[in-house]
Amino acid sequence: MDERTDDAYCGTPAPAPVPADAGPPYADCVLCGKPTEYPESTKGSTLCPVCEWQEAGRTACSG
Ligand SMILES: [Zn+2]
Repeated sequence: MDERTDDAYCGTPAPAPVPADAGPPYADCVLCGKPTEYPESTKGSTLCPVCEWQEAGRTACSG
């Protein structure tokens, strides 16, 4: 008796591909150029979380 496994028949279907960049286009950080959490429609200068944190710290320390 020739017993063979048929993976093609019993195999689970491949999951749907997840888009790497879901959601609206994000504006680039004005300091480092990395994508921020803000959409491109945001007015004014946009900062990524890292630069935003650094800017906040600098503002807190000055004055
Ligand atoms: Zn940045």
